[in-house]
Amino acid sequence: LRVLLIGSGGREHALAWKLSQAPSVEHVFVFPGNGGTVQIENISNVASEEEIAEGDYSALVALAQKLDIGLVVVGPDSAVVDGIEGYFRESRIPCFAPSKESAELEGSKTYAKDFMRKYDIPTAAYRNFDLSVAANLESAKEYIRSANHNVVIKASGLAAGKGVVLPRSKDEACEELDAFADGRFGDSGLSIVVEEYLEGDEISVLTFSDGETFKSLPPGQDHKRILNGNLGLNTGGMGVYAPTPFVTAEVMSEIEETVLKPTFDGLRAEGRTFRGLLFTGIMITPYGPKVLEYNVRFGDPETQSMMLLLSQDTDLAAVLLACTQKTLAKTELHVRPGYACNVVISSTGYPGPYKTGQAIQLGPVLLQDIHIFHAGTKMVGNTLQTAGGRVFSVAAYGDSLEMAVELAYQGVKSVSFDGMYFRTDIASR
Ligand code: ATP
Repeated sequence: LRVLLIGSGGREHALAWKLSQAPSVEHVFVFPGNGGTVQIENISNVASEEEIAEGDYSALVALAQKLDIGLVVVGPDSAVVDGIEGYFRESRIPCFAPSKESAELEGSKTYAKDFMRKYDIPTAAYRNFDLSVAANLESAKEYIRSANHNVVIKASGLAAGKGVVLPRSKDEACEELDAFADGRFGDSGLSIVVEEYLEGDEISVLTFSDGETFKSLPPGQDHKRILNGNLGLNTGGMGVYAPTPFVTAEVMSEIEETVLKPTFDGLRAEGRTFRGLLFTGIMITPYGPKVLEYNVRFGDPETQSMMLLLSQDTDLAAVLLACTQKTLAKTELHVRPGYACNVVISSTGYPGPYKTGQAIQLGPVLLQDIHIFHAGTKMVGNTLQTAGGRVFSVAAYGDSLEMAVELAYQGVKSVSFDGMYFRTDIASR
């Protein structure tokens, strides 16, 4: 099987690594890839990067035909939400990504909230508002003032993690609303969700589905803020460990029964059958698990830990192909018994402005349980340079959580560049 993997982050490097180990896989082509997915064993970047503009999915189909691809795997949310799957379906090339219709679960938070209400899936209390109608700004403020809880305000559309604000008071929430109405988040920020602020422990659950059968990976916990102690600005994620010991087998069954099953059944009932990977962000509250958000693709940095938890005999390409062919029930997917942890190394300044083009020194990694997954890196001539905000995810597997964390931080020591930054408290809480 020849695989075409679309994307350039740490998530894609981890997927490429796991796919390349699969007995069924001959070669993994990554488009556009990064400095870590270049010419190693049976992984390579597709060289024709400049020729395909972002969003030109017909050109990607032509590329897949030229390379004789048997499975396309899509990383980034924008491509999935844009409906990349439909282009490959038309050309009869198996594509691991949900349809445009099912991707609305991530592409529109107002849709996702109404969907959860309709199918009785536990989530924060909310109301949707369309701020393009002037009178709705006042109604939204009234809703905030009369609610018996604090609120979170979210732009409905994709906003690269920047469309969510967590005001500390109701006055601040009303000021934020004005900013949304003034177009701070562009047109996508005019359609908003105002929802209840939930207290609890946040987890990420990644679930494969072929539309009927679903199989989840162990829950993981991301660390969203830039600074230790979960302080500072929100980021794309600074590190993940899994499984989370506080999510017992009973809680996981409750999530399957009250969240995942009704989600896949509901989507089928709506004519939006979901075949792909569903990422459910869940708050474990004192009143049980409640959905914070759905993403319709692999999480980054969750995937970097999850790939280490899949057993060696799990053929990831076979699992992904089974999702597209409705044969997941018959396909082996095994999870290793231990723990995984990954620590994100970023450029100083991220998630604000940061420098790129810094030369990177990579030392040897002597233990096979430590993996240096590249994200914002690129090869310039013979030197590896920084090319993004999140530069690496150093991931490790261990028999215990303590061991996984220790090994991940040991791996971090083999990376060095000017201005490198990482949190030192991943999984410490
Ligand atoms: P992501 O980058 O995770 O895709 P997003 O822009 O889709 O982010 P959400 O995941 O909905 O937005 O929210 C971002 C973060 O804000 C969550 O991971 C969570 O930490 C926090 N958050 C969101 N909704 C709530 C809520 N109702 N109560 C408390 N915290 C929340």
